[in-house]
Amino acid sequence: MELHDLAYWQAKADTMCFDGLAYIDGRYTPAADGATFPCTSPIDGRKLADVAACGQSDVDRAVDAARRAFETRVWSGLTPRERKRRLQHLAALVERHAEELALIEALDMGKPVRDALLFDVPETARCYAWYGEAVDKHYDEIAPTGEGALATITREPLGVVAAVVPWNFPLMMSAWKVAPALSVGNSVVLKPAEQSSLSALRLAALAAEAGIPPGVFNVVPGLGAVAGQALGMHPDVDCLAFTGSTLTGKRFMRYSADSNLKRVWLECGGKSPHIVFDDCPDLDRAALVAAQAIFVNQGEVCIAGSRLYVQEGIHDAFMNRLAKHAKAMAPGHPLDPDTPIGAIVDERQMQAVLSHIEAGISEGAVLRTGGQRVRCETGGYYIEPTIFDCASQDLSVVREEIFGPVLAVQRFATEEDAIRLANDSIYGLGAGLWTRNVGRAHRLSRRLRAGLVWVNCYADGDISVPFGGLKQSGFGRDKSLHALDKYSDLKTTWIDLRD
Ligand code: NAD
Repeated sequence: MELHDLAYWQAKADTMCFDGLAYIDGRYTPAADGATFPCTSPIDGRKLADVAACGQSDVDRAVDAARRAFETRVWSGLTPRERKRRLQHLAALVERHAEELALIEALDMGKPVRDALLFDVPETARCYAWYGEAVDKHYDEIAPTGEGALATITREPLGVVAAVVPWNFPLMMSAWKVAPALSVGNSVVLKPAEQSSLSALRLAALAAEAGIPPGVFNVVPGLGAVAGQALGMHPDVDCLAFTGSTLTGKRFMRYSADSNLKRVWLECGGKSPHIVFDDCPDLDRAALVAAQAIFVNQGEVCIAGSRLYVQEGIHDAFMNRLAKHAKAMAPGHPLDPDTPIGAIVDERQMQAVLSHIEAGISEGAVLRTGGQRVRCETGGYYIEPTIFDCASQDLSVVREEIFGPVLAVQRFATEEDAIRLANDSIYGLGAGLWTRNVGRAHRLSRRLRAGLVWVNCYADGDISVPFGGLKQSGFGRDKSLHALDKYSDLKTTWIDLRD
């Protein structure tokens, strides 16, 4: 994959235009009442498009189309081999349009185009390919009944799955839901985040080209409190798969209870601990990874290692290394392939991150590096990698998810201290630890209350392993074969074999 230079990406960006239309029942369409919302690029504040602001009637249309497609079995009735072929075709189209999709992600949400090209887009393609491949690898079961009966346990699609996703990895977060949901034969209505709708709308055309029939995959951009709520409350949506903040996740539980008891799967926020013991096998590498764990994607990562715990004996040596890496990750132009981190997704999120930084300072956290908005002259929204030394676990920068490039560091004395501090959070998404001690690695892996634990690395993963959290980070798992359980039901059929 060629990275090209800034001029190449800029020239390509200049030729792009977006109509921002919703995609319902196989057709691009404006919202029924013509409403739109502006989509601006955080790179420079420039308007990219007016995007359809779908309302209740648009969501109704999309859900009706999805239901019709499901009932007529245009998708679930295909042979598994054919569904597999079409999902793999979609994966190939994502790969073929990698540059275009990467550029859309960079323009729309401000991440470095290099990251989108080398990570988001290939991961998205892999996800569609992997769940495509899974379609005809899954066998149903026959229960061990006595001779007089045959009991089959078959996996059935649920019907209409709605996916409501955030803006930090727009293509990938939606693929983690759309691919397994389609794989088992459901129809899908996707609501992208209002900050980053454009790649989902482009994906709809690629899905159609891949042979996903009209109505099977719909995209309804719109505001969370309108389109998102309409999906959450919809009486004909069977399953709502959500990734986003814990606050909104709780809302979806209420929507479900107040409507049709649709099943709800939540991938929510995090404040993940990253622990470095004094027997860390490679301090240089750990410091680099700790910086990447919080600053990559501008810190807008649910599993960001945003709480760092460093054992007393190595604290100073480690922090010097860490600060050096933080300084080297200064924000730059997202279309420059050498840029380590890009722009914060929008002005509101930038102000929220800056408020957290101010709160940290006023509560007594010591600012070691960063803390400022930079590149103001561009009209875009950039914040320096920021590190706080924190004397107390009670500081808001230690407790609250910031979702920006802000790291809270504390020192600890013993293994027990590390476990206690790490688990002292309402969240339980990721956790990392660095140690040479195999026994300690196993002990902590079990005792850390997180859905994902990394030992001597951070944020590594693969489509084949489950992803998700404990506590208020949500429940249910994306990725891996386990994700198929979220989008299917088990049916028992008992057949009397006696004459
Ligand atoms: P958010 O909760 O504000 O929005 C997520 C989605 O929900 C968007 O599509 C939004 O339009 C919609 N929404 C917002 N308000 C709504 C409402 N009242 N009713 C219905 N829908 C509504 O979150 P965000 O700011 O887009 O994303 C950041 C959050 O996502 C962070 O907390 C982050 O940790 C979390 N996240 C979690 C994971 C994970 O896998 N656990 C992955 C990525 C992001």
